[in-house]
Amino acid sequence: MISVPEARERVLQHFPGRKIQWMPLHEANGCLLAEEVHSPADTPPFHQSAMDGYAFSFGNWDGRSPLAIAGEVQAGSVFENALPPATAARIFTGAQMPQGADTVVIRERVTVSGNSLFIDDEQLVQGRNVRPMGSQTKQGDLMLSAGMLVTPAAVSFLASTGITTVKIFSKPSVSVVVTGNELLPPGEPWSPGKIYESNASCLVAALASLGIVPGRVERVVDDEALIRKAVQGLLHQDILIITGGVSAGDHDLVAAALDACGTECIFHKVRQKPGMPFYFGKAGNTLVFGLPGNPASVLTCYYEYVVPAISCFTGITYYKREMLPLSAGLHKKKGMTHFLKGKVGDGLAEVLGDQESYKMNSFAVADCLVELEEGKENFITGEPVWVQRII
Ligand code: AMP
Ligand code: MG
Repeated sequence: MISVPEARERVLQHFPGRKIQWMPLHEANGCLLAEEVHSPADTPPFHQSAMDGYAFSFGNWDGRSPLAIAGEVQAGSVFENALPPATAARIFTGAQMPQGADTVVIRERVTVSGNSLFIDDEQLVQGRNVRPMGSQTKQGDLMLSAGMLVTPAAVSFLASTGITTVKIFSKPSVSVVVTGNELLPPGEPWSPGKIYESNASCLVAALASLGIVPGRVERVVDDEALIRKAVQGLLHQDILIITGGVSAGDHDLVAAALDACGTECIFHKVRQKPGMPFYFGKAGNTLVFGLPGNPASVLTCYYEYVVPAISCFTGITYYKREMLPLSAGLHKKKGMTHFLKGKVGDGLAEVLGDQESYKMNSFAVADCLVELEEGKENFITGEPVWVQRII
């Protein structure tokens, strides 16, 4: 049986390496850019009116005389010819400036009489109310650096230059298998001896928080051949998560099934509570996480081991890990690292009640896992401990 720090290290040691892929821009939200992005175009792509008003040549105007209204240009259209001297064109926000015009007077600052435009705007200067071509990006400009997170705003910025795909660090492909004879799929009528299956929904929800949709989610009874069959079909994935069946009972057949599928066991059992029977293996490039079936063990192992592995692929740190003082003293036995459901408030870590691994009532309201190290028994009020945020 190995320690928690050793288990953490071994999981990360077996990371097979990042993958890079071209991704449609709108799907790249939440991913890190794998290379810098340069603008393929000037934006705005033309001198553009910023307001509804009249476009004219400021330098050719004497500052007093009315201008003749030569026509109109709407957003999406162009003013066919150059603007004749002593004229103005009616223009709308986003429209391309007519050739020869450099300034827009807003419509609130003019009087129109017949075809004559009288400008009454003391503040007006050359270039006012115009967004110059290339004033956001010039063709070839660095837009975003490698390693930056693609956010909805970044998607908008890149899309505005005509970009439709970007190179990002791939999210891992993940599949989930839950095992147990006692498991009832959600929605089925309850029957004696059975419990509602909750680990699959939990992991699907947890992965969704990271923007990952599992390739497959399967439920299997405690039958080695059937577990083997399920596992075999999923060993092309980057990550396989199996729950249940990794303890030492007669019906715990996952380790044997994984072995039969050619999975190399990297470790089995960690000095931790909950989740002591945790199994980690590797089949080719697939990282295999065998999580003890109790729901709190599943989710604890997920946050402590699976999420850091996913971070290796994507380059993103999803949840903060920090040292915080305990809000109250605690006692535990030596020999195991304890992960306790907790809440952070006023800069302190408060440990909640109901820590048993079959219970999810305290986990459901927790926002962190408080880590109490293996070698210690007593923790005093205010003592700093590692806290893993989970939201
Ligand atoms: P196991 O790791 O298979 O020995 O299961 C440990 C405990 O977790 C047992 O009480 C199981 O009934 C429960 N358990 C296992 N898998 C699930 C699941 N998918 N959903 C809810 N509880 C489960
Ligand atoms: Mg079981």
